[in-house]
Amino acid sequence: MQNLWNDDEAAQFPGDLGQRIYSSRLLGRDTSLVLHGGGNTSVKIRETNLLGDAEDILYVKGSGWDLEFIEAGGFAPVRMAHLLRLAQLPTLSDPQMVNELRTHMTDASAPTPSVEAILHAILPYKYVDHTHADAVVTLCNTPSGERRIRDLYGERVVVIPYIMPGFDLARLCAEIFPREANRQTLGMVLMNHGVFSFGATAREAYTRMIELVGMVEDALKTRQAWAVNWAPRVPDVPAAQPLRAELAMLRREIAQQVGAPVILHSVRDAQALGFARRADVDVLAQQGPATPDHVIRTKRVPLLGRDVTGYVEAYRKYFDAHVGESAKTMLDPAPRVILDPELGLCAAGRSAQDAFIVRDIYQHTIDTVVRATQLERYQALPARDYFDVEYWDLEQAKLRKAGTPPVFTGEIVLITGAASGIGKACVESFLARGAAVVGLDIAASVAAVSSKPAYLGLVCDVVETGALEQALEQAVRQFGGLDMLVLNAGVFPGGCAIAELADAEWTRVLRVNLDANLALLRLAYPLLKLAPRGGRVAVIGSKNVIAPGPGAAAYSASKAALTQLMRVAALEWAGDGIRLNEVHPDAVFDTGIWTDEVLAARAAHYAMTVEQYKRRNLLKTEIASRDVAELAAELCGPLFAKTTGAQIPIDGGDARVI
Ligand code: ZN
Repeated sequence: MQNLWNDDEAAQFPGDLGQRIYSSRLLGRDTSLVLHGGGNTSVKIRETNLLGDAEDILYVKGSGWDLEFIEAGGFAPVRMAHLLRLAQLPTLSDPQMVNELRTHMTDASAPTPSVEAILHAILPYKYVDHTHADAVVTLCNTPSGERRIRDLYGERVVVIPYIMPGFDLARLCAEIFPREANRQTLGMVLMNHGVFSFGATAREAYTRMIELVGMVEDALKTRQAWAVNWAPRVPDVPAAQPLRAELAMLRREIAQQVGAPVILHSVRDAQALGFARRADVDVLAQQGPATPDHVIRTKRVPLLGRDVTGYVEAYRKYFDAHVGESAKTMLDPAPRVILDPELGLCAAGRSAQDAFIVRDIYQHTIDTVVRATQLERYQALPARDYFDVEYWDLEQAKLRKAGTPPVFTGEIVLITGAASGIGKACVESFLARGAAVVGLDIAASVAAVSSKPAYLGLVCDVVETGALEQALEQAVRQFGGLDMLVLNAGVFPGGCAIAELADAEWTRVLRVNLDANLALLRLAYPLLKLAPRGGRVAVIGSKNVIAPGPGAAAYSASKAALTQLMRVAALEWAGDGIRLNEVHPDAVFDTGIWTDEVLAARAAHYAMTVEQYKRRNLLKTEIASRDVAELAAELCGPLFAKTTGAQIPIDGGDARVI
């Protein structure tokens, strides 16, 4: 364990709450301590209220906040006196507890306090840190875990047997802790859940957390149970072997069970393949994750292989076995983690962000399971305990809070020519609608068009069919399939009369604007056929298709042929549920082709100002890349669900087109 505390950095966070923010971020930065919203921290501060009364306030992490990025507004201030009285109640239901926490805050706009707020309150220390450290839960999930914990820590920690988080846990701690704590106590271990550390200062609590977790890591190292060596087990994997059809098929089956499109992210590194190919993977992976709160992301067990239907049947049995008389509704029965000897580790989620969280959690789960096995044997909690957390109202409420997702949530679009102009605008329009976006461009800047996790930018020369195939393979390994395609990449060569048009120039333009699109459509077809909501293609055409101009023979001919290609595909693929539609933009000047000089020259040619030139259409309006992108995105959306083979001008009105 590395102690990241830095006095100079810490000095930039004044006050008790500032120190709390600083060390919370340090904990959040280490993925072996907390992952994606896991863990929580608090500080107790005496404050004087408006009436002049001194009150002890617990500033505890708000629900939904991530320790790594927490700010002052991420802590909920709750009155200590009330929390301590609540801890004395024999029972308190979840809705009652949330209500009591929310109605006893000193700031009405603060987030809902962590469900562990009462537990933080009863621990008599100023700073309290709580993580789900990999090392500690590894030790817990072994048959002699509790003995090992007690032997290792001695008087340093109080050990609490596993119990469901929330009020019952706080009650149990309120009973055990005062009895067992003494002067040497600097922390607490919750079996199969995580670890607490305490301190008079933020630095002390943080340092103790690092020390406590470091002790377990060292113990595991001593027993050859820390380093996991995957490489020798894994036979070399043919990296070039295409897997996109199999991944897209798996994604479709999972989406059917979820009832909505999903992102399926796959990892084929040494760890993923090494674990999926272990002879005992069926024993190791079928017990449950290292700590129950992971269950809401990963489900209790992964799917081994690709029998989604079999998984769903088993999930229904698990639900029926544990639901009892309670009025709970079954969640979708689809797997979130898939372990396949060929596909490796696949993580499913409603969005790219969700899928990446599942991946991160399960990668840590694999390490935990294997380390526990190297130490002794992995032994997780009984299924019942996972069920209780999976179907805990408070956890479900966290997931529901997101509201109605954007229209393309869980869907994947590939956009060519994505580094600039209309293509770049398309990236924004589809991301804004919740899609995962793969942008292709010959320009290296395509990689940086967006920094969102739902974006993947790939350098690709679309005239190279091999490069297109590789890009599709990468796209599907990243996100699981292909639902939509935007054919945008194209070249617009300078004016050239037919009499002077060289063969090479003609061929170059047709290769980019026509041949490349044929190749991409052909390669994308098997994937678009598997799109859960039906494949969609938006073609960026040109006004020139309907109203060509002199000097643009190759360009106009290529776009006209592309239009005909789109129409034939609309006929051929309608039976597969694939829709193709086209936009015909004109006079879009915020693209790379139109520099200020070129614009000025063209305007002067027509004896117009630049402003007049930009708006020389019937509606006297200016057309931006964003306008075209928004229309292309809408063509792929529900508004045009019953339209295929259509062509829509976006040119401000052109008498020749009309
Ligand atoms: Zn916890």
